[in-house]
Order: sequence, then structure tokens, then C-alpha cells
Amino acid sequence: MRTIEHWIGGGATRAGSTRTAPVWNPATGEQQAEVLLAEPVDVDLAVSTAAKAFESWSQTSLTKRTNVLFAFRELVARHARELAEIIADEHGKVVSDALGEVQRGLEVVEFACGIPHLLKGDYSDQVSTGVDVFSFREPLGVVAGITPFNFPVMVPMWMHPVAIACGNAFVLKPSERDPSASLLVAKLWAEAGLPEGVFTVLNGDKTAVDALLDHPDVAAVSFVGSTPIARYIHQRASANGKRVQALGGAKNHAVVLPDADLDFASDHLVAAAMGSAGERCMAISAAVAVGTGADQLVDAVAAKAKAVRVGPGRDEASEMGPVVTAAARDRITGYVDSGERQGARVAVDGRGLVVPGHEDGFFVGPTVLDHVTPSMEVYRDEIFGPVLSVVRADDVDEAIALINANPYGNGTAIFTGSGEAARRFQRGVKVGMIGINVPIPVPMAYYSFGGWKDSLFGQSHVHGPEGIAFYTRAKVVTSRWPRVDHPIAASYHFPTTT
Ligand code: NAD
Repeated sequence: MRTIEHWIGGGATRAGSTRTAPVWNPATGEQQAEVLLAEPVDVDLAVSTAAKAFESWSQTSLTKRTNVLFAFRELVARHARELAEIIADEHGKVVSDALGEVQRGLEVVEFACGIPHLLKGDYSDQVSTGVDVFSFREPLGVVAGITPFNFPVMVPMWMHPVAIACGNAFVLKPSERDPSASLLVAKLWAEAGLPEGVFTVLNGDKTAVDALLDHPDVAAVSFVGSTPIARYIHQRASANGKRVQALGGAKNHAVVLPDADLDFASDHLVAAAMGSAGERCMAISAAVAVGTGADQLVDAVAAKAKAVRVGPGRDEASEMGPVVTAAARDRITGYVDSGERQGARVAVDGRGLVVPGHEDGFFVGPTVLDHVTPSMEVYRDEIFGPVLSVVRADDVDEAIALINANPYGNGTAIFTGSGEAARRFQRGVKVGMIGINVPIPVPMAYYSFGGWKDSLFGQSHVHGPEGIAFYTRAKVVTSRWPRVDHPIAASYHFPTTT
């Protein structure tokens, strides 16, 4: 059985770990590896190695840091296919989808290549007679990233290229369900010339996370995962005096107005709900059909959902792969049972799907539930599977109210031909990322990514300008170089400008 180790200092290591967790192949249902689970002593080793590396990395010139980032960019681009195949094998998503994830991660690396410009401070000449003021930003120290299973390359890349470009040392605790891609990323950083200890991969579970949250030498924590854990991370790390950004779960609504192009909207709804088997924080999990055309919309969506080709992620013909574990499959089908019990109509039923040749794989077929109401569990909870719930509303204002009553606020979308309705929607919803005729509005790397309400704990979104601000702190210098022939008298009143 292959053992997936940590990456501490210059290479892969077991450190002091003895516990392991299974890593499954979701397409076959077989265990393909075991991953080490770090103990507090391993966390100590990782953090002290990172703290030592920080001392010199933080003093390395912007030019040298940028050279490493450009080299890393080239290596990730060259290994994109290999990364995508590792993702497909452990996560289950199809390779073409995994390639898209790598590409979106790469865009953050490209953003971070512009670090000399991004770190430029301000300068004000002669704010008072003979006095100048200027600002610059410094890195924080050792920063940790704790990431979810659903984007094993992209989500960590929202964090580490930015943190490292800013001069920090980064300790990544990836999901224990699909950890292998992070080890390849560590190798690529090393090949790019990043000094040992600046990027660390520490595999583990709650034990490792808690030790990171409590470690006095961890200055900041970036977390992406489910809402209950995000809330917990935010509380515990904040109580320990750390800077924290903790992105949580989602229930993303897509509103379809009667003036939308039905064919376009139903195509995009199905792709956004079923792509990556619905295991995306920006997946559309609730469709709000507005007005009298709801039945027509459900018919179009159902026909397209039934036509999705489900199969192993490595099969080029597959459009949707399995879900990540048997437990995830059972949780998802349990929700469909509950929706049916509570009165939803199962318009398309993905329960019990068997993929020939992959009978033991963790497959759930595309599922569409109609006549869902806000009191049902399938509407209230994040299912995180290929299940689209259709609710109905009379007009756009009722749809906006429905979205705003939901505790999550990650993403949302509207399909319409009306600019007036779209504008009312974009201004009215309490949600961080909004798509207009775009179902998965993931911001480009040079904007920041993040939700509102229970989808984010802490102030900062990730990457873009907020990422730079999160991984640095500002210094403002007020300076005076008095002329010896013009002495300036000291004064006892509070300094004011003259
Ligand atoms: P998860 O919350 O179970 O795990 C995330 C990370 O936290 C993992 O590294 C895991 O090891 C760790 N963890 C799990 N339980 C813990 C505990 N009790 N104490 C300390 N650490 C713990 O999430 P997941 O199932 O891996 O990922 C799916 C979730 O992530 C979904 O809710 C999805 O919406 C969310 N997500 C959100 C975003 C976003 O940008 N808002 C992006 C991707 C995924």
C-alpha cells in the first residue's frame, strides 16, 4: 500500500506520524493509498522549519522572489495534465474539469508574479515642512492554509502563491481525502528554486489542525471548507490572537426569469448543478423558477439532467464522475429520500445508479427535485452532490427575498434578458459573488473570492487585493531630516502639521 507522507524542509518525510487514513479511488471504490496523519510533534517540526525559512525568505529581494514565482508558473503549466490526473484519481472529478481547476489555480500564480507592483507602498512628500510620510507592507511570518477535498489544487493555490510572494512561509494542511496533488506541488516549488521550508505540506486531520490553530508561531490561518468547521476555526484561531479568514459552505441559487432564453438557462443550470458531481462551493444547488414558465423549465432541466454522461473521471467520455467517498454518496441519497418524504417531486432520480464495469464506485446520478419548499431539509442544508432543488417564486423581488433569507451567501446567478431586473438583483442580494447569465461566477485571480454571511468568517476574501492585504501588515513611516542650519524647536503639544 502506497503511503502518502508530509513535505517538511527539503522533501517527503514520515516525521513522527504513525496514524494513517485511507485514500480511496472513488471510481472503483477501492483503497489506493494511505495518508499519514500528523501529530502535534510533527506540527512543531513543520512550524519551526517554516519559521527558520521565513527569516531569510522574508529578506529575499522582490526580484529573486519573482524569479521563483515565474519558474513555478512554468512548472505548474507543464505539469497541468499530471496534476489533473492525480485529482481525478483521488477526488473523482473528470480530467477535463480537473484541468480547469489547475488553470484557475495557475491564474493566481500569475497574479502573484506581479508582486513587486502589488506591494508598492505610498509616499507623500512634504506633509509638513521638511516631513515626508511613506508606507510599505511586511509579511506576517508562518501562515497556515487548511483546505477542503473538492479543489485539491486550486483552493490551496488561492493561498500559497500569494502568501509566499509576500514573503511568508506557508504550511498547507490539505484534505486527507485527496492529498497527493499537494506533494507534487511541493516538488514543483522546490524545482522552481523556492528555499527549503518556505512551503510545507502537513497531512492530517483534526489533531493537526488544532495544533496549528494553537501554535504560537503561526501568525495567520486561511481556511476553506464547510460552515461548521469554518466557524470553529475562526473562533479558535481568533481566540489565539491569529489573523483568520475562514470560507464556509454554500447554497447557491440561480434565478430564472420568464424572459430568459429557456434553452440557454436550462443547459447552464444543469452543467452548474451536476459538474464535478455538485461538489463545488459555487455549484448551483437551488433553481428559483419565476412566474408561469416553471413547469417548462423543469421539463427542459430534467431532459438535460437525464442525458449527462456519468462515468469514471479518467474516461474522456464522462461528463460527471463519482462523488468522493461512500459516506458522501450515502449522505446525498439520504437527502433525496428526505426530500421525497417531505413532499418534493423527484423529477430525475440518481439514486442507485450503477456504472457498468465500476459497480463498486461511489456514483450518484444527476437528480432533480421539483416543488421544493424552504422548510425542507434538501433546501435548508448544503447537500454537496449532484442534486438540483427547484423552488418557485412569483417575481424577481420574491426570489431576492428567498436568497436573502438563506443563511449562506457565497454565490448566486440570474438568467434574464432584462438589464433592469439584473441590476435590481445585483444590488438586492446579500451575496458575495453574483453572475448575470453566468451560473458559476468565480472571480478572476486579480479580484478577490469570498462569500457573505455563513459562507465567510473573518473580513478578508482570498487572493486578489484582499489576499495581499491578508498576508501582510502595513508600516507607515513619518520622517524628517532637519537641516543643521535650521533647528526645529521641540514642542509639548501633540504633533500637528505646519
Ligand atoms: P470540511 O470542512 O470537512 O474539511 C475542510 C478541512 O478541515 C479539511 O482539511 C479537514 O481535514 C479539516 N477538518 C475537518 N473536520 C475538522 C474538525 N472537526 N476540526 C478541524 N479540522 C477539520 O470540508 P470538505 O468536506 O473537505 O469540503 C467541502 C466543503 O467545503 C463544502 O461545505 C464546500 O461548500 C466548502 N467549500 C467552500 C469554498 C468557499 O470558497 N467558500 C470552496 C470550496 C469548498
